[in-house]
Amino acid sequence: ADIAMYRAKRSKATYCVYEEGMQRAVADAFNLKNDIRHALDEQQLYLVYQPQVAATTGEIRGVEALLRWEHPKIGDIPPSKFIPVLEELGLIHKVGRWVLKEAAAQLRAWQDEGIDVPRVAVNVSPVQLERAAFTEELLETLAGADVAPSSVEIELVETTLLADIDAMGDRLFEISERGVSIALDDFGTGFSALNHLHRFPVNVVKIDRTFVAGLGSAREDARIIEAIVRVAGDLGVETIGEGVETQLQLDRLVELGCKYIHGYLVAYPAKAEGIAGQIGDDRGVWKTVLESEGRGV
Ligand code: C2E
Ligand code: MG
Ligand code: MG
Ligand code: MG
Repeated sequence: ADIAMYRAKRSKATYCVYEEGMQRAVADAFNLKNDIRHALDEQQLYLVYQPQVAATTGEIRGVEALLRWEHPKIGDIPPSKFIPVLEELGLIHKVGRWVLKEAAAQLRAWQDEGIDVPRVAVNVSPVQLERAAFTEELLETLAGADVAPSSVEIELVETTLLADIDAMGDRLFEISERGVSIALDDFGTGFSALNHLHRFPVNVVKIDRTFVAGLGSAREDARIIEAIVRVAGDLGVETIGEGVETQLQLDRLVELGCKYIHGYLVAYPAKAEGIAGQIGDDRGVWKTVLESEGRGV
């Protein structure tokens, strides 16, 4: 407050900006917490989907469901801002169940319409996984939507394992044994990442976007990706390069042996209708990859 007063003497404008900025930050955080309690019931939450495709052919592997919150006054708020709030409030369990149900229902709808989406990937917070009933609820949800467990993948960040490695490991084996696929998200950013591949039932690693972004400039990034691809290959684990934005990144990933990609080069996350439009006639192949590469099938 003293500093604020001092500033106020120097410049009325600075003082106002400082005060208003502080108040707004505090008010925002407070309002976010209150508003998000009603977001699900008020139908302000929705899902967008982003395709994952084979790097060389554009063949669709699946789509990742990404949660969105359209706040009635502020507009779209990114998940990086509101997911931690949901976790803190314990609402992530309820919202997470809704995400799974919604994504499974969408997959069923696509398959009923003859649109070739083979798989849906859903992000699961470590907080959700701590719940003992998680696996049973997951399977109930999938059965309720008439979706095969093998067409669903859950994406976990590596810190999930650090929380309580034995308990989390048990949970992952339980999920895996029931046929649901497990992906490690943002892979390579956590501790002893490669070690985890030996110990847990991981089906796919998603190579973190920061390494992909460095391709073409930072030599270490290429080496890290090379090492991940090699170890994953030895263990029969698939690899997805995350956040591919340029043709150069795509070409380098292919050279390094990465099998699948997602990113703005292929497609931005879109509502379900947008996905259907892109794979409508060329069954199973994502159009933009073929167009941008001039490749045919
Ligand atoms: P993530 O699971 O690693 O998802 C990938 C993020 O990268 C998404 O951000 C996606 O929009 C973005 N992305 C995709 N391609 C590109 C690209 O080419 N360039 C760049 N710069 N970004 C790209 P988004 O949708 O903002 O989600 C952020 C994070 O929020 C997700 O990261 C995930 O950790 C979390 N999240 C999203 N939906 C859910 C959910 O339903 N449940 C939970 N627990 N977490 C979620
Ligand atoms: Mg993810
Ligand atoms: Mg990721
Ligand atoms: Mg991420």
